[in-house]
Amino acid sequence: MSMRTRMAPSPTGELHVGGMATVLKNYAYAKKMGGQFVLRIEDTDQQRLVPGAVEEIQQVIRDYGLDWDEGPDKGGPYEPYIQSQRLGTYQAYAEELVQRGQAYYCFCSSERLAALRKKQQADHQPPKYDRRCLHLTPAEVKHKIEQGEQYVIRLKVPDNQVVSFSDLIRGKITFNSNQVDDQILLKSDGYPTYHLAVVVDDHLMQIKMVMRGDEWISSTPKHVLLYHAFDWPMPIFAHVPVFLNPDGKGKMSKRKGTVSARSFLDRGYLPEAMLNFFMILGWSPADQREILTLEEYIQEFDPADLNPNSVVFDLKKLDWLNGIYIRKLSPDSLKHRLRPFIPADFPAAKFDQILPLISERLVKLADFEQLTHYFYRNQQPDRKLLLNKTTPKIVAAQLETTISWLEKLENWQDKAIEHSIRNIQVTQNWQKKQYFMLLRLAVTGEKYTPPLFATMAVFDKREVLRRLQQAKQIALI
Ligand code: GLU
Repeated sequence: MSMRTRMAPSPTGELHVGGMATVLKNYAYAKKMGGQFVLRIEDTDQQRLVPGAVEEIQQVIRDYGLDWDEGPDKGGPYEPYIQSQRLGTYQAYAEELVQRGQAYYCFCSSERLAALRKKQQADHQPPKYDRRCLHLTPAEVKHKIEQGEQYVIRLKVPDNQVVSFSDLIRGKITFNSNQVDDQILLKSDGYPTYHLAVVVDDHLMQIKMVMRGDEWISSTPKHVLLYHAFDWPMPIFAHVPVFLNPDGKGKMSKRKGTVSARSFLDRGYLPEAMLNFFMILGWSPADQREILTLEEYIQEFDPADLNPNSVVFDLKKLDWLNGIYIRKLSPDSLKHRLRPFIPADFPAAKFDQILPLISERLVKLADFEQLTHYFYRNQQPDRKLLLNKTTPKIVAAQLETTISWLEKLENWQDKAIEHSIRNIQVTQNWQKKQYFMLLRLAVTGEKYTPPLFATMAVFDKREVLRRLQQAKQIALI
């Protein structure tokens, strides 16, 4: 039987980076085993639906360079892959459990349940349904339904049973069925709850491994009881540790910055760098190397080797990886990838001249503007930095002399500019460091830039002279 894995996102918003890391693992493991990776949309909580989320989830997975074998838009042998289109199936299975004495109708009103919860809270008891409807006779049930009373179907959880399942990453997990509530399987609007739908679909879709974030581990006992109630074989469960915030504190969440998989692409992280980053969070190949292609990962990854401890979403490491992947790109593909990050006022004709000057310093594609803005936007250098322990008069004289020398320079090229500037410095006997920094600040407004002469050569000569003039005015204020 082939290894079938799945990702089952709810379209309640954008896919989280942790979700994308789980997509990668499921995708890679199915590929490794020659099986299939299924994408299923779990949209049974209609209140929380976000318009457009179904499309966006699919798009972002593809933008990361991953894909599925069966899913909403592709179809497949177990279609449809959107739960709201499978309501009849869940209803039939919920009824089947009732027939088999494993589930029951419950007519309790939401007011009654709220009052019950309140009382349990006051008595410091865990919230649990008190099974008032468990003992209704079939005739009573029939009568209530005929009267048009609203109902849900609840699982009849067996009393005091020790139940266990084995998690591929965490080992054997045991619980007592008394800890589990008689959960609702089918809601009064005919929609299934997550628990029923996930178990029915994983079974019908022949999913062999349920690999998901470990925030779902507390739901797994409910699923295990459902597998027992249906008398179905269980899939392999593998609960993947969640990511911790970059500062190491707490589960990675919206409160500490954007966490959607999309937002990282928007900031100019390359999808292949992101995937490589996901690969090495909580897992490493036998030789401990940190740079892996997707093909290598597919060959080497085994979910059984995942570390059960949470891992920090280490942004420094991500930046490092992104830099490596940026530097692997050919100039043409870097240019192509940069396109969405190029500001409207960037001088397109100068792209090929500017790119080699800054590409070594690109950590994220979105840094492009910050690294190039002074080439096409006027900068007012900071006066204190310009003066830097000398006097306004000296600085103004230095700039004036430079202007008059450069005015005469015909060949406005990197080497010629360098020759001229070094000449000035030597003949005037100015301190080299101070003088070069002055020019750098005057021309770019920045302390750190690519090599000075190559930078100056990007500008038109007139613009350099204008900026030197501007700096002189600032010095003399
Ligand atoms: N629909 C759940 C989610 O939003 C799926 C959990 C699971 O994988 O079972 O992530």
